[in-house]
Amino acid sequence: MSLPSRQAYVPFVSVDNMMRLVLDVGIEQIMVELADVIEADFRRWPDFDKTPRVASHSDIGVIELMPTSDGQHYGFKYVNGHPGNMRQGLQTVTAFGVLADVPTGYPLLISEMTILTALRTAATSAMAAKWLAPRDARVMAMIGNGAQAEFQALAMKAVCGIREVRLYDIDPSATRKCAANLAGRGLHIVQCDSAAEAILGAQIITTCTADKQYATILSDNMVGSGVHINAVGGDCPGKTELHRDILLRAGIFVEYPPQTRIEGEIQQLDPDHPVTELWQVIAGQSAGRVAADQITLFDSVGFAVEDFSALRHIYQRLQGTSFYQDLDMIADPDDPRDLFGMLCRAGAQDKVA
Ligand code: NAD
Repeated sequence: MSLPSRQAYVPFVSVDNMMRLVLDVGIEQIMVELADVIEADFRRWPDFDKTPRVASHSDIGVIELMPTSDGQHYGFKYVNGHPGNMRQGLQTVTAFGVLADVPTGYPLLISEMTILTALRTAATSAMAAKWLAPRDARVMAMIGNGAQAEFQALAMKAVCGIREVRLYDIDPSATRKCAANLAGRGLHIVQCDSAAEAILGAQIITTCTADKQYATILSDNMVGSGVHINAVGGDCPGKTELHRDILLRAGIFVEYPPQTRIEGEIQQLDPDHPVTELWQVIAGQSAGRVAADQITLFDSVGFAVEDFSALRHIYQRLQGTSFYQDLDMIADPDDPRDLFGMLCRAGAQDKVA
């Protein structure tokens, strides 16, 4: 797993290069690949060193660090969540990440992760839906039509075979943007005037709104039996999307319970309310959907393993491409103990020059 670069240089994937790489591979194709690598890493979940992400909250948002390691590689992501940013023309979520080699501790890759987070979040949603949603699901409601929305819809199309997406956002201009971006991509798009209209006939309901409060995007009477809910937007203490009564009717699936109990929809429930870890379903240790009329809920908050999988995949996908720049990140004196001498020689060379 190494790029043909001098060890002292670390490949850096800028936003521009990430876009070029994703377009070169294909947007749906890379999400299919990411769903596969994330699923493979979920299957070997016990191999990972896991901790709830380290969050620094303010009244208007959060900044988080998300580390994990499988003993061979180490990864972390820096990510923010600021629902008010959009009103200033800024992204709600921005991110970058690092992949490192555990035996040496040297960084292997630095990458933008704003686009990569949208891709991996959508890939994770689709992977979860593949295991939990009704097999014949063809219609999806997409509530919250912001930055993540198109990625979510296309991943569900590519991985689960969704054919119709019903869009709703409190801001109609977001829905128009989303519909325009999805036009011509093989999905039947329906723009709706309410969340209730959007979920009509949908077997998969994705909520992906941003508001730092206990919001009620879906109330209990709106949700019929047998649907799969993919709740993406509630991912912080005090930031949820579903009415508590829906949770009490649903089979709940989570990434990493110690983090989801703090950040997910289930923060509204008793701390010992039963939930199933998604990796256990994938590894064949727990049941997924157990009945056609069961409501399944993937209480997505985003976990470090998904970012780790995405960084490793991007690292492999970079091989043989020009979609990165070498960063001079590692000091590499000829004698590893002579760091000071290297510094002084650089000064002497500058004087000569
Ligand atoms: P965004 O700000 O670009 O879009 C959010 C959209 O939600 C906006 O268009 C807004 O008008 C809409 N909205 C707000 N309240 C609504 C309501 N009551 N009903 C309908 N629409 C409403 O944000 P984004 O980047 O698309 O992210 C969406 C959410 O997903 C954020 O809360 C973010 O923190 C979360 N997120 C979660 C994960 C994860 O892994 N679970 C990953 C990335 C983002």
